[in-house]
Amino acid sequence: MANVVAWAGEELDRLKQDGLYNHIRTIESPQGAWLQVDGRRVLNFCSNNYLGLANHPRLAVAAQQAIEKYGIGPAAVRSIAGTMDLHVELDRRMAAFKGVEAAITFQSGFTANLGVIPALVGKDDAIFSDELNHASIIDGSRLSGATIIRYTHCDPAHLAQMLAEHRSQYRRALVITDGVFSMDGDIAPLPEIYAEARKGDAMLMVDDAHGEGVLGTGGRGIVDHYGLHGKVDVEVGTFSKAFGVVGGVAAGSSRIVEWLQQRGRPFLFSSAMTVPDVAACLAAVDLLEESTELVERLWYNAEFFKKEMKTLGFDIGHSVTPITPVMLGEAQLAQEFSKALYEAGVFGMAIAFPTVPRGKARIRVMISAAHSTDDLEQGLHSFAEVGRKLGVIS
Ligand SMILES: *Cc1c(COP(=O)(O)O)cnc(C)c1O
Repeated sequence: MANVVAWAGEELDRLKQDGLYNHIRTIESPQGAWLQVDGRRVLNFCSNNYLGLANHPRLAVAAQQAIEKYGIGPAAVRSIAGTMDLHVELDRRMAAFKGVEAAITFQSGFTANLGVIPALVGKDDAIFSDELNHASIIDGSRLSGATIIRYTHCDPAHLAQMLAEHRSQYRRALVITDGVFSMDGDIAPLPEIYAEARKGDAMLMVDDAHGEGVLGTGGRGIVDHYGLHGKVDVEVGTFSKAFGVVGGVAAGSSRIVEWLQQRGRPFLFSSAMTVPDVAACLAAVDLLEESTELVERLWYNAEFFKKEMKTLGFDIGHSVTPITPVMLGEAQLAQEFSKALYEAGVFGMAIAFPTVPRGKARIRVMISAAHSTDDLEQGLHSFAEVGRKLGVIS
């Protein structure tokens, strides 16, 4: 009998031959500035744990207390019996935090995009999408059945041209952009994108996954950063990055949120966030509303690290956020660099094609408020040593 799944082994072999197979490391410790990996302590330059909340005692205690009161599972989708008062509280607190009328939580940022986009547009409509938007935006867009029209990365003039050429052929139009682009650390020119969207009679949605807890006053996100309150129709966010937990959120007008409660499919057909996740998210909102200290520490660390890397002679691209791409060029060099860093006790991920264009391979350093100045200096020292050894800097 023929082996009907033999293709999987062949495909996997091909990935390995092409150097595209992803070997996943296992972390044996809590998330933090340092991790234990393969029994060794390594400096963590890889996580999205921007504020160090993934292992914060306040979040852990909140989760434990909620488990005592409510148990673990929601046991249903939000629209049947899975909405606990904790979920309603998180929806309400996120709306207040973001300064919008209403918010709705999903199981992750990924499912938020799968839920929101098909609820807003369908087969008679068009999506105008930044060419570098996140995979979950691409998937949500495809799922919607709308026509997808890509515009040049962060280029409002090209967006305007695309709207002028195509808008009139469709019923509704939706412009979607990432807030922060995670591979380069650049941010969308949202005021100009907003102006073009309105001129083109289109709704505007921003996915602020890497901006939430990072940009704006006390981490209120990209809309706050630009002072665009009340102008962006839907802000999607995640609890899995700066918030240190897991979950997703969409925020906007109460009408739009009410519509998402009726038609957001992951809200209707996939169970709600778990009790400890929701409670930990609530504790994260408390922390962010009480103090801007962690956000300030994050930016202080990021600016210190980026300045020192430039002084050492590294090309760190054009990031304006704590995401620090260390540009190396060829994939092989990036792999070699990452391996040498790891041997020196620094966990920094090499990123190459197809995640970034060919010839633009890099190590992406993720700075966190959890790093001490000593940690960063140690990381800089290792970068300098490896950089000299491999001839990247002199
Ligand atoms: C990480 C990310 C997501 C996915 O968020 P999860 O909560 O991890 O599912 C969605 N969009 C963007 C832009 C992201 O960077």
